[in-house]
Amino acid sequence: MKHFPVFLALEGRRAVIAGGGEAALAKLRLLLKTEAHITVIAAGPAPEIMALAEEGRVALIERAMEPGDALCAALFYAAHDDDAEDARTASLAKADGALTGWVDNLEQSQFITPAIVDRDPVTVAIGTEGAAPVLARAIKADLEARLPAALGALARIGKAFRARAEALAKGRKRRDFWSDYYFRDGPEAAGQGEAAVTPALERLLARHLDEAPRAGHVAFVGAGPGDPELLTLKARRLLHEADVVIHDRLVSAEVLELARREARLVAVGKEGFGPATPQAEINRLLVEHALAGDQVVRLKSGDPGVFGRLDEEIDACTEAGADYSIVPGITAASAAVASLGQSLTKRDRNSSVRFLTGHDMKGFAEHDWKALARPGQVAAVYMGKKSARFVQGRLMMHGAGPATPVSIVENASRTDQRILATHLAALPEDLARADLAGPALMLIGLAPRAAEAAPDKEIAL
Ligand code: SAH
Repeated sequence: MKHFPVFLALEGRRAVIAGGGEAALAKLRLLLKTEAHITVIAAGPAPEIMALAEEGRVALIERAMEPGDALCAALFYAAHDDDAEDARTASLAKADGALTGWVDNLEQSQFITPAIVDRDPVTVAIGTEGAAPVLARAIKADLEARLPAALGALARIGKAFRARAEALAKGRKRRDFWSDYYFRDGPEAAGQGEAAVTPALERLLARHLDEAPRAGHVAFVGAGPGDPELLTLKARRLLHEADVVIHDRLVSAEVLELARREARLVAVGKEGFGPATPQAEINRLLVEHALAGDQVVRLKSGDPGVFGRLDEEIDACTEAGADYSIVPGITAASAAVASLGQSLTKRDRNSSVRFLTGHDMKGFAEHDWKALARPGQVAAVYMGKKSARFVQGRLMMHGAGPATPVSIVENASRTDQRILATHLAALPEDLARADLAGPALMLIGLAPRAAEAAPDKEIAL
């Protein structure tokens, strides 16, 4: 982030625009939404600017800018549509100590004017650091369509009601009240006109004052394989409402970004064969927060019900009398197979698929190798990086062909996803050479669709 977004207080402060044409007018229209004292400096101002000056809405200086014109200004725009004049006036304004913007010249500007969605006092500012104005406009159009016009009125009325809402205990009680107001009761009442909003707030407050405090709850939520767009809507909502998020180390940063800003994030779990938070400690944390009345999201990578030690955590909740629910997620096997352009089951190839773990508590895990070694079988091996040689040995011992395809997908669904296409005979060597650092899923019996069509072509690492 090269630019730090802030909202600048302009009430009663000077804002100066040098220029009298289209570019100046565009900035003027924006500044007129604020409570700044606006000065326009232009030798030949457009008629609209002259009219605004006559109405007393802007101070007009009808000449070229001179040193000292931007003294004490909070903000300055060089907006002449003329590079030489913009350069001259921008350097004068900088010398006067004003925060200086040069229209359409990012390098020479000290700030960026974002695309704005205006639901005053709710203002959304969108910036791309000059990288993609088209994208900023598209996001703006999207938000304009999504944010109801009444939002500004709701926020204004809500602000006037803040002192009354202090009757509710700080924290979750008060947050629930405001959340009901902005997302349910408020918009409903606004539909009948602004006058209906304050009475609706009164009724809502009375209801919340009567309510017993909400009990703690643990939601076991699947975070999916990493791409935040693969989260369920429910997972997103729960993250947004959470007091505490207890997450595995595999959960991606982009997904954690979606947690409520005030939520406490606690990282637990293990990293490969590295340091681990003992399961008993995780159980203790869950129970402690739930009994304290927190809304806990226990965020597990992929699906919580696949190699996630879910049952132990549920048992801990049940024993302690804590309420819980489970929200499924997209498991790594689904994401990995999608990246290959393949399916996990296929008519006339395999009518079942196995999810295996490469190692369990006792070491390398044993499975029904004989069944797995049959032609056409598909298995997804989780936590299998270290067990490649063991898996290869067991399968070949039970008759699997050395040419059986094996695909390994590292960081499935993430921007740094890599696919290694190999076959059983070469598996351990190819895997060692690839030196994968991220989480990886091994799909036995499947090749990437592209490689199937052209068997000699290996997917580049
Ligand atoms: N509950 C998870 C699995 C947890 S076990 C799920 O449903 O996906 C951890 C293993 O999952 C890792 O060792 C790796 O084999 C696999 N895994 C998790 N995320 C992955 C990803 N983005 N890409 C590839 N494999 C992944």
